[in-house]
Amino acid sequence: HHFTLGKKGNQTKLSVLENISFHVSAGEIVTIVGRSGSGKSTLLNLISGFIRPTQGEIIIEDQKVSNFDESEFAHFRLNHMGFIFQNFQLIPSMTAFQNIELPLILKGMGETARKETALAMLKKVGLEGFGEHYPSELSGGQQQRVSIARALVLEPPLILADEPTGSLDSETEEDLLQFIQQLNKELGITFLIITHDDEVARIGHRTISLADGKIVESGVFS
Ligand code: ATP
Ligand code: MG
Repeated sequence: HHFTLGKKGNQTKLSVLENISFHVSAGEIVTIVGRSGSGKSTLLNLISGFIRPTQGEIIIEDQKVSNFDESEFAHFRLNHMGFIFQNFQLIPSMTAFQNIELPLILKGMGETARKETALAMLKKVGLEGFGEHYPSELSGGQQQRVSIARALVLEPPLILADEPTGSLDSETEEDLLQFIQQLNKELGITFLIITHDDEVARIGHRTISLADGKIVESGVFS
């Protein structure tokens, strides 16, 4: 995957990111660190197409995604990216199982294969037996696992995570970090992970450090 990002402005012409340019290779885990307001979420939102750069370009798997229109991006996201958010973004009116099944429905998978795949994923994140629970009936860590299962169910080559362990206790965090590393090793999934947490930053093969919308450091976490 290649990312070359330019400047991002908003309605008030505030420039949030400037002269950002970096490249992530397939199979890498890259962690993004920086203080609150340094532009980490903005960077991830640019890569995922939720906002568009005012200048510069973003290239993912040889496709210039920054030129995509909304529907092209929606299609691209479904096939190429999975998302893990700090606040999970589960659909409250759907059970754990239904939340995991949703990307498969969007993808048009037939019912039998879909049920099988979603169930296997539910097991993989250690939530067998919790499929019928609604998000409100699950702990924070369990909700996070559902959101991870949903992010991974289509086996996207790239996972974007914004503070994935922000709502987890340290034991659940440790489990999640191991799971991410396992997925990276076994399936070669690329991860871009924003974090405030040194333990999380450390799982990166490489860390990018942002300050005031600029890359101030990029290298191996020591
Ligand atoms: P945190 O660690 O607190 O999540 P962050 O590094 O993710 O911070 P961003 O959310 O990327 O920071 O925000 C970077 C800067 O851009 C901040 O000054 C923020 O106020 C500003 N910003 C982000 N989104 C917008 C927007 N849609 N409109 C105006 N300003 C914005
Ligand atoms: Mg943020």
